[in-house]
Amino acid sequence: MRVAISGVGVAGGVIATGLAALPGVEVLAFERVGPDDHAVAGNGLNVGPNALLALDRALPALADRLRQVSLPWRQWRASTVGGELLAHVPLSAVAASAGLRIRWAELYRACREHNAGVVRYRAEVESVMPGDGSGPLALQVRRADGTPERVDGIDLLIAAEGRFGGIRPQLCGAPDITYLGVANFRVLLQDHGEWPLDDLEQWFNGPNRMLAFRLRDGLVYLSGNLPIEAGQDIPESHKTAAALARSYTPDDGVMAPVPRQLLQGACRAAERGELHWSRLQESTVRWCDGTGRVLYPGDAGHAMVPTLGQGATTAIEDGAVFVDCFRQALSGGLSVPALVRGFEQRRRERVDFIRQFSWEASDVILADGFSLPRVRAKGEAAYRAKLQRLYSLD
Ligand SMILES: Cc1cc2nc3c(=O)[nH]c(=O)nc-3n(C[C@H](O)[C@H](O)[C@H](O)COP(=O)(O)OP(=O)(O)OC[C@H]3O[C@@H](n4cnc5c(N)ncnc54)[C@H](O)[C@@H]3O)c2cc1C
Repeated sequence: MRVAISGVGVAGGVIATGLAALPGVEVLAFERVGPDDHAVAGNGLNVGPNALLALDRALPALADRLRQVSLPWRQWRASTVGGELLAHVPLSAVAASAGLRIRWAELYRACREHNAGVVRYRAEVESVMPGDGSGPLALQVRRADGTPERVDGIDLLIAAEGRFGGIRPQLCGAPDITYLGVANFRVLLQDHGEWPLDDLEQWFNGPNRMLAFRLRDGLVYLSGNLPIEAGQDIPESHKTAAALARSYTPDDGVMAPVPRQLLQGACRAAERGELHWSRLQESTVRWCDGTGRVLYPGDAGHAMVPTLGQGATTAIEDGAVFVDCFRQALSGGLSVPALVRGFEQRRRERVDFIRQFSWEASDVILADGFSLPRVRAKGEAAYRAKLQRLYSLD
């Protein structure tokens, strides 16, 4: 059994870790960047308890490793920028365990470190030759030194290339993208541990929201949202320090200390050109190609809006569940299309729920969706019940 993995990010890294340990399986993994290149992503992310639950079942050593290199994420909390508490949900009330607060670089490192022998870095999969659909595939790969290479005899291709991958568009057409109508900036701030901020908090000035939490090494991850017209580019005029100050300062000018410090940090970062901007968007779902020999886990198959911190979380879930499906298929005699379709069957409804919930939870960061009662509702029973489902793998 020869399995190729194109893209060793979150989903690809988890799957490579699980499959590399199996007897009778040859794993060939290709990653376009170098082993530490994602350090530039530099940002933080919150990983939901559901990812850890899935990993604890399928790859407990990787779950332990992630806990070691991160901090626990234990709450959802929302206030106004003036400091009035609107909602607070301890994760212990809706999940069996905490989630994680982690740096991107650490997440990628942990997902890659146990599969060093099977990953070829700075090697890009350029295209796939699907053959007649019933036999092995061949790949066209660009090696680190720039020379092309043909890799034959691939029984299963895991195209875990993230939302901008090339294999899915080549085989199935480009996904349709729907824009939420919200711009996002991200930055890491160094406060040397001085600001009174620890676990995840959000502050609203109308639909303009800042979200922040502390990471290891005295760093603070800050992400901000601003409504924009859906599908339009983010106006450059929104990105200046003066515009940010206007967006997050309430009419009465009174801000609580932490959001004020965060805003000042964001403004300084804007002046230095250090904010990373993106638009919130989701793509149409596709799990595999028509032959069932090419699988699209993670963002390659179902990119979603990041409002609930579920993109990488779901990519980890996908990886862990796929490893479990693969082990079961190995012991029962392996048909690749049956394995791939069985995995889709196991994941489809759950991932649809996560995407839908992530989209609905974004109402309060939309220009025409924000209201204080709606933010308050995110601490109440109906919303908690949905969080409970989210964090329980059901
Ligand atoms: C603003 C923002 C904030 C976010 N915050 C969170 C958060 O707090 N929590 C959370 O869970 N998620 C968050 N996400 C989502 C998260 O970033 C993604 O969902 C996650 O990275 C998807 O993992 P993946 O493995 O599918 O793809 P990726 O992590 O993108 O990995 C894909 C890999 O494939 C490689 N690759 C691509 N094409 C090729 C090729 N042809 N050949 C070889 N290699 C290739 C790439 O170099 C990359 O390493 C956020 C996203 C955004 C935009």
